[in-house]
Amino acid sequence: IAARRTFIAVKPDGVQRRRVGEIVQRFEKKGFKLVGFKLMQASKELLREHYWEHRNRPFYNKLVSYMSSGPVVAMVWQGLDVVKTGRKMMGQTNPTNSLPGTFRGDFCVIMGKNVIHGSDSVESAQREISLWFKESELCEREGCSAKWIY
Ligand code: ADP
Ligand code: MG
Repeated sequence: IAARRTFIAVKPDGVQRRRVGEIVQRFEKKGFKLVGFKLMQASKELLREHYWEHRNRPFYNKLVSYMSSGPVVAMVWQGLDVVKTGRKMMGQTNPTNSLPGTFRGDFCVIMGKNVIHGSDSVESAQREISLWFKESELCEREGCSAKWIY
């Protein structure tokens, strides 16, 4: 199986809402493998880089402030089609358009505090993983066999 990786972050409001455990649990239940995990206070510099594609949007500065307003949980998840499936599990950018059963559909009401980030493509996943993690911080747990999943 050509496993893919995606970058998922529980945003500051998600941490404050105590949703870290449930988010981790749903990715685990689905069958994805956790290969990177850290609780951190992200710098504005890192966040400006992370959201570089939005630098000319009116909400950019507010977004960077929001994301630096408290600790975030940065994670790397691995598995078949994890980028696409991770996005489905998240719901839409606007929680109002997100179905129940998705993180944003279940846990929040406004775009400006929408609980979770997930990479939107394989290319952005690679960029974001290398921005947030050193290679040495990513673990391949061999003991966690994929033979039950694939
Ligand atoms: P997504 O997180 O679903 O990939 P985008 O990449 O378009 O969404 O935007 C990044 C983040 O910026 C969103 O998750 C949301 O927190 C915030 N955001 C996007 N659009 C708006 C907006 N119109 N007003 C306020 N915040 C926004
Ligand atoms: Mg995005």
